[in-house]
Amino acid sequence: MPGESGRLVPKTIPNPIHSILEVAQQVIHRISSKKGHGVEALFGLAALGGLFLLAAACTGGGANNASPTPTATARLSAVTTIYPLEYFTRRVGGDMVSVVNLVPPGVEAHDFEPSPSDIARIRSADLVVYNGGGFEPWIDRALKSSTNPGRIVVEAAHHEEEDGEGHGEEEHEDPHLWLDPLEAIEMVERIVTGLAQARPADVQALEANGEALAQELNALHGRYLAGLAECRQTVFAVSHAAFGHMAERYGLEQVAITGITPEAEPSPGQLAAIADRLRGLGVKYVLVEPILSPALSQTIAKEIGADLLPLHPLESLTPAEAQRGETFLTIMDANLANLRTALECTS
Ligand SMILES: [Zn+2]
Repeated sequence: MPGESGRLVPKTIPNPIHSILEVAQQVIHRISSKKGHGVEALFGLAALGGLFLLAAACTGGGANNASPTPTATARLSAVTTIYPLEYFTRRVGGDMVSVVNLVPPGVEAHDFEPSPSDIARIRSADLVVYNGGGFEPWIDRALKSSTNPGRIVVEAAHHEEEDGEGHGEEEHEDPHLWLDPLEAIEMVERIVTGLAQARPADVQALEANGEALAQELNALHGRYLAGLAECRQTVFAVSHAAFGHMAERYGLEQVAITGITPEAEPSPGQLAAIADRLRGLGVKYVLVEPILSPALSQTIAKEIGADLLPLHPLESLTPAEAQRGETFLTIMDANLANLRTALECTS
């Protein structure tokens, strides 16, 4: 049988023995790079034994068993849609999870459409984490066209509305929940739950990672509270309406030049009305995003004699930001600094 397997199994179908051996090699690599960690090495060796048993079992019989068998030690594969979910999932999953994010750096996330290879990734993932709330209008189609009964799907920004009559047709709800650090903590908790479901054996480590991240987000919330406590302005002008949850959390109001999606552009009349309102409020800055064209914001800023300042919606990083090692947290702090300038905060 071993000699014939090459003829029996078409080349395009992944060979389970092959992938088991690849995993075994990774385990060996991990063990050899972890000298001195006795317990971990022991777990690794035990797992390795299991892999070889599994490999032996496969050679012994199931030549038809062509789909790769997930093993207890393989890293979970997670697919996320947008950057905040990628960051949260990496932080919670640590080296238990490998994460692929679909919207690449520098791409406007609202515009994104998955490619056939993205759909293939969604199909084969152990875990899919998407935002929800209409941010990924393509997600239902993508999940339906790539069914996988073993896959766990997490809607990170899901708002339970099951209690009571329902707040109706979640019409135009603002899906940018991650920009409110306390909402971000809830998103992290949903990701912890999903990962723990996919990997019950690692629940403690996953929860500990989630807890550490939640504490950092809570500290971030503390900096926002303190930093935005005493400001001359409560209104800030932004490119697209991404900052509604953040504004609400800290008693502020965003005036957005476009809608919830950047594609929802204003008419000339609306643009003039926005400019009038901002001029009346004495707003001195218009906040612009790194990925969107600043053209409309520049028009308004010129009109009211305001300066431009960056404010990042974090839907995706720019390639330069990714290269510099910026993270969700560093950019949220940069956002706070620029908000404090725009709002003329003194505290
Ligand atoms: Zn947005």
